[in-house]
Amino acid sequence: ESLDKGLEKTKENFFTKLGKAVVGKSKVDEEVLDELEEVLITSDVGVNTTIKIIQRIEDRVARDKYLGVDELDKILREEIAGLLAENNTKDLSDFSLPEGKKPYVIMVVGVNGVGKTTTIGKLSAQYKRKGLKVVLGAADTFRAAAVDQIKLWGERVGVPVVARGMNTDPSAVAFDAVKQGVEDNADVVIIDTAGRLHTKVNLMNELSKIKRVMQKFIPDAPHEVLLVLDGSTGQNAAIQAREFTKATDVTSLAITKLDGTAKGGVVIGISDEFKIPVKYIGVGEKVDDLQVFNKMEFVDSFFK
Ligand code: GDP
Repeated sequence: ESLDKGLEKTKENFFTKLGKAVVGKSKVDEEVLDELEEVLITSDVGVNTTIKIIQRIEDRVARDKYLGVDELDKILREEIAGLLAENNTKDLSDFSLPEGKKPYVIMVVGVNGVGKTTTIGKLSAQYKRKGLKVVLGAADTFRAAAVDQIKLWGERVGVPVVARGMNTDPSAVAFDAVKQGVEDNADVVIIDTAGRLHTKVNLMNELSKIKRVMQKFIPDAPHEVLLVLDGSTGQNAAIQAREFTKATDVTSLAITKLDGTAKGGVVIGISDEFKIPVKYIGVGEKVDDLQVFNKMEFVDSFFK
């Protein structure tokens, strides 16, 4: 399965370290817990979430002093699954759109290079495949490459891309895209935005302006603000999440490039810290390498 393959490096790293942590041990004692803490932190789970997990295991050890290391896998799996489930959001079962919002407007945010355009392309392909009508808006007008990229995806997938000249006000593009979405009776409008984190105030202003103009057509748009994070950057992704959640109301997350990195634990930390549902994960560059995130499957593939 591609999820297992995508998380291969994370899993390998995790288990090698976990194995070393318990070698020659029979009980889960303080030393094992210290090692485990180290394993979680070096897997990019994040300090706060790691402490939380360790505390929970400590509580279990306190209740059962003879907890064997052979049970550590199982316990850890339960605690991580529990933590992810506490975010109490329902996982998507497929690439479907919520009912009753047409067009459903998604504003995509994130810094350059994290895989925003690719994620938009992959999402469009999934919607298109379901027979849904998609309109893309190239509102990242600061980079010619970004506009070209999204046009390329549009051609590849067969969906229209609304674009304007370089350095046009991004909100003007968003306006046109949503307008076209309404006129064309589209099911979904996906707007790419510029990922410049130069100053928080600028970013905040830019994103709120984009929101304001689309609300001229659809008062409750955007229905979703999807933040794309590059999982392979580990704790950097968590820092970006902090910045963006301060700048705008992020409603969902896509964590990309989990293939080829051992830092997949970052998904656990980010989901715990921000309580924003992780909706998608990217496990490769190809069109089918975007998956809807499923908490249990994710944890299972970690421990399989
Ligand atoms: P943007 O600047 O945020 O729009 O980033 P792009 O979508 O252009 O992606 C930057 C690079 O990351 C490209 O080479 C993509 O092919 C690559 N990329 C995006 N998502 C993934 C993923 O899930 N896995 C891998 N391995 N590469 C990805």
